[in-house]
Amino acid sequence: MKTIGLIGGMSWESTIPYYSIINMEINKLLGKNHSAKCLIYSFDFQDIEELQYLGDWSTLELKISEAGNSLKSAGAELIVLCTNTMHKVVSNFENKVGLPLIHIAEAVGEEVVAKEIKRIGLLGTIFTMEQDFYKSLLQSKFNLEVIIPEKEDMERINYIIYNELVKGIIKDESRNEYLRIMDKMVENGAEGIILGCTEIGLLIKDYKLDIFDSTSIHAKKAVKLCNVFSPTVL
Ligand code: GLU
Repeated sequence: MKTIGLIGGMSWESTIPYYSIINMEINKLLGKNHSAKCLIYSFDFQDIEELQYLGDWSTLELKISEAGNSLKSAGAELIVLCTNTMHKVVSNFENKVGLPLIHIAEAVGEEVVAKEIKRIGLLGTIFTMEQDFYKSLLQSKFNLEVIIPEKEDMERINYIIYNELVKGIIKDESRNEYLRIMDKMVENGAEGIILGCTEIGLLIKDYKLDIFDSTSIHAKKAVKLCNVFSPTVL
């Protein structure tokens, strides 16, 4: 089994489900008391958030590759960056760090097309919904039409992420807001919804159409790629 390096703390509330899912999936495969071999590099999220809102993506890129290098030195063999937003700065990551990075939008896109969906709604931070780095991959690699909420709704989604979900605050009224906005995207043609922020799965557990939780999809793909073979198969 390969050692997985998790770049987390963005926020730590969403790194917890990554850690649980990866361990549970490894245990499903190997049984007994097996668990994942993994390392976590956990950022102080305040530093990350401030740089995001300053638009200082080059410092953020540096920080993410430094984290990757630390994990590599400690023995990581593949990297999982536990946030959608920070995938904005990963285009040179594999070259700089020399380890494979499991791209979150690729993992999600694979699941969406497996369901034969063509038009998909996207929820995430304002950076993920508004900017191009995430949507363009879904469009170019998976031929998906990506539907995003209208401006005011994007701001509401983003506010709830940074002021509630990253602190572990889960409110029914915020869940209802999300559901209202998801319904609107469905009215606009979405056939399913990507929970494209790793905290949203803490708030939204089910929906009338398919939802694609980036955290769980990403964590499960990491397990698939760490070359674990079930003893029953061997
Ligand atoms: N975890 C979030 C994401 O998946 C937002 C926090 C961040 O900005 O990294 O995008």
